[in-house]
Amino acid sequence: MQIYTLFSGSSGNCVYVKDKNTEILIDAGKSAGAIEKSLTALDSSLYNIKSIFLTHEHTDHTAGLEIISKKHHIPVHMTSPSYERIVPSSAFLHSSAKKHDTRYEAEIGSLKVRSFEIPHDSMMNVGYIIENEEGERFGIATDMGHVTNEIEESLTGCNYALIESNHDIPMLKSGPYPYFLKQRILSDRGHLSNECCAELVTRLARSGTSQFTLAHLSRENNTPDKAFSVTRAALDDCGFTSVKLNVASPIVSTLVHK
Ligand SMILES: [Zn+2]
Ligand SMILES: [Zn+2]
Repeated sequence: MQIYTLFSGSSGNCVYVKDKNTEILIDAGKSAGAIEKSLTALDSSLYNIKSIFLTHEHTDHTAGLEIISKKHHIPVHMTSPSYERIVPSSAFLHSSAKKHDTRYEAEIGSLKVRSFEIPHDSMMNVGYIIENEEGERFGIATDMGHVTNEIEESLTGCNYALIESNHDIPMLKSGPYPYFLKQRILSDRGHLSNECCAELVTRLARSGTSQFTLAHLSRENNTPDKAFSVTRAALDDCGFTSVKLNVASPIVSTLVHK
């Protein structure tokens, strides 16, 4: 299984997964043109994408869907609450959108995809576990107000995981955001701090996850160095020095696993 983040953060999110001849995207939060350009650089194209799985309806996860659905006939899987929020007002999503329960499973070629609920200030938000026929398992969890038992149980046993490391709490508190927005981000339906990410990552490393990518970093309230050093130090302190860790770029394809 090859996994790349094409884009990550509040300016747009899109994850590309390729296994044998099955290729899927998680979210399409950049323009169709930008996503196509990124896929071309990885020797692929939107024409190869078998399905898109949506986490939630926020624009940084959906921005490219309308034009992609106009030009391509790629099934777009989403939960019912997200469907109700974005499909009725869409011109092109009606024929491609697939409505699901919050917890659902789908088989796309050689991949099995399973969703789980993540608390966030959206109609609904889900993470995904993606597994291939060889038993390789990849988990993705972002836009996470706090870590629930369901999130941790779902991610346990993944070989690779992409986890939100959104903000440094002191930077957020002293930063330029208005008070209400700071409270929103810090709430249990907001985004995950570097420290909470590091705690989750070390617990997952204990259960065998060997490779992590930190994602959805805030541009204003975090730096790649801060996010990396907090989780790296937590892993090293627990003796997980051989666990691989990197940080997803907001705008350049970043390898999660190959
Ligand atoms: Zn969101
Ligand atoms: Zn987001």
